[in-house]
Amino acid sequence: MLSRRVSHIKPAPTLALSAKVNQLKSQGLDVIGFGAGEPDFDTPEFIKEACIKALKEGKTKYSPSGGIPPLRQALAEKLLKENNVEYKPSEIVVTAGAKMALYLVFSAILDEGDEVLLPSPYWVTYPEQILLCGAKPVEIKLKEENGFILRAEDIEPYITNRTKALVLNSPSNPTGAVVPEEEIKKIAELCLSKNVFIISDECYEAFVYDGEKFVSPASLSKEVREITFTVNAFSKTYSMTGWRVGYVACPERFAKVIEDLNSQTISNATTFAQYGALEALKNPDAKTFVQTMRSAFEKRRDLAYNLLKDIPNISVVKPKGAFYIFPNLSYYSSKLGSDLALAEFLLEKGKVAGVPGSAFGREGYLRLSYCLSEDTIKEGIERLKNALALLES
Ligand code: PMP
Repeated sequence: MLSRRVSHIKPAPTLALSAKVNQLKSQGLDVIGFGAGEPDFDTPEFIKEACIKALKEGKTKYSPSGGIPPLRQALAEKLLKENNVEYKPSEIVVTAGAKMALYLVFSAILDEGDEVLLPSPYWVTYPEQILLCGAKPVEIKLKEENGFILRAEDIEPYITNRTKALVLNSPSNPTGAVVPEEEIKKIAELCLSKNVFIISDECYEAFVYDGEKFVSPASLSKEVREITFTVNAFSKTYSMTGWRVGYVACPERFAKVIEDLNSQTISNATTFAQYGALEALKNPDAKTFVQTMRSAFEKRRDLAYNLLKDIPNISVVKPKGAFYIFPNLSYYSSKLGSDLALAEFLLEKGKVAGVPGSAFGREGYLRLSYCLSEDTIKEGIERLKNALALLES
């Protein structure tokens, strides 16, 4: 018998969809996949070269479980310079991607029966990891009318004496919503007053549009820093999803435990991959690369939004960040019974793939990742529109 702990576990639907699209493509089918949660840019050459150099120099053994010292040092400098938060290298633990960082944080703070506030729509992995730790995800339903932006007043009614933490993901996957600084301040004050940790998933910090400002909650005050776990990765910012390098920064007494958990599970993030990550922080060309990608995504965001908003009977919020758009297709999905049925219909009839909103806790929506060329986005949304029109007849 399998353990009760894993009895509910599901494969990540986003990864499953990408696998299905790739399988169809390999059979020669012309499918446009809006499913992938990763940039379509290649990892910059100088990052690859730094990793190859590390391999050739024999950096092929275990590293310290908290990460190689120069990377922890460079991350401390990055967090101070870009995020305005002071962390010592010993307060930063390098992990196998942000996903592992989150799992280690949940493992470090959650006991059986604890509650974690989870604004929905949420990234698919959060509830699964919370459940794996024996705790309970408590959904806070964000309103489309509010642009899916989390507000302190939405959180307050859900706080109980079992509430341990809040997951804050701004810019958000799947909605692209960015919580404004004023609201982050109010949320942080509320968490401080109620003794609730903030787990700030900052994976999409580099992708913010329309002059919006990205704010790390830990930068707000010494007190907020004390209750915050700042989680981030190289995956999206530098198009390094397959490298599996992420990190968590938090007060030393927590970092020490997370480092121990890392040492007893994966030992360390892959040693030579950490040298690639170090180059991403050190090489001045990296900034240009990130800017190029950000500008491309902003243009594609505009394109996808403008095309989607003209499709009859759907509504769509203009995302302010990340690289996803989350149109409301409930008019169409209700005709087929579910958004899963709609996603299957779109794949079959339209040869276009998106992830059903129900995977993110919100039935009736579809998440589209616009990490595709502008021509592909145009063609893909045209296919979506035509397939939806079939449901009108
Ligand atoms: N957080 C969010 C919100 C994400 O979208 C993702 C990747 N899809 C991750 C964390 C995981 O990132 P990584 O690949 O670094 O594990």
